Amino acid sequence: MARRKKIYEGKAKILYEGPEPGTLVQYFKDDATAFNAEKRAVIEGKGVLNNRLSEYFMTGLNGIGVPTHFIRRLNMREQLVRAVEIIPLEVVVRNIAAGSIAKRLGIDEGTPLPRPIVEFYYKDDALGDPIVAEEHILAFGWASHQDLDDMVALALRVNDFLSGVMMAVNIKLVDFKIEIGRVYDGDYQRLILADEISPDSCRLWDVQTGRKLDKDVFRRDLGDLADAYTEVASRLGLMPKNGHGAHGPKLVN
Ligand code: UDP
Repeated sequence: MARRKKIYEGKAKILYEGPEPGTLVQYFKDDATAFNAEKRAVIEGKGVLNNRLSEYFMTGLNGIGVPTHFIRRLNMREQLVRAVEIIPLEVVVRNIAAGSIAKRLGIDEGTPLPRPIVEFYYKDDALGDPIVAEEHILAFGWASHQDLDDMVALALRVNDFLSGVMMAVNIKLVDFKIEIGRVYDGDYQRLILADEISPDSCRLWDVQTGRKLDKDVFRRDLGDLADAYTEVASRLGLMPKNGHGAHGPKLVN
């Protein structure tokens, strides 16, 4: 069997050439990293959970007309996605102060924000993904005025959708990060949601107890990361009954 071509390998995922032009296969690894990859571990089953969770969120978003790169899940660790030209920005939406905004602005973690805040970070590991203003984005040509409008609108639609889905299972969506890509349809270009939506890139807190169900469990050594992600998948109805077996997560198709 011919070995397929690896297009890109990141910290948590690998992109392979897809079966048709304009497609890629996105493979979810078990690797967890934090603090710009200074902290690393392999969390058995994380890739399987994130593949399924990202499929669930992206399918829901596609269903309400938010365009995403997701085409279909191929197997436990892989999904077929549309190839995009990634905009070199991480788009973060915050509903409650936590993490870097709490630290930077001296706000107590857990303080609800008066309105969702959208922030941009320049994707550059060597620089530690610095926060940037719209002025920087326009001046350095990473995105146009129109792109910025479209990115904010997309990010807020994702926020509304995800907040509702999570609140229905008693989880607060504190913040999340998305990546956005450009696709070309003939003479037109448009922006679509790319990458993944999973507890790796969100902050999720249990409504009653405040228990963290996201990557902070790993960042802050708060327990078993796979257990936390399994809890999210389970509340969303993605795990079989008695799914907490000794052999790692088993997912409902
Ligand atoms: N985030 C991410 N990748 C990054 C940086 C942040 O997925 O490289 C997510 C993070 O999980 C959180 C949100 O974006 O849900 C906001 O992160 P923050 O700026 O507070 O940074 P952190 O405290 O994670 O360093």
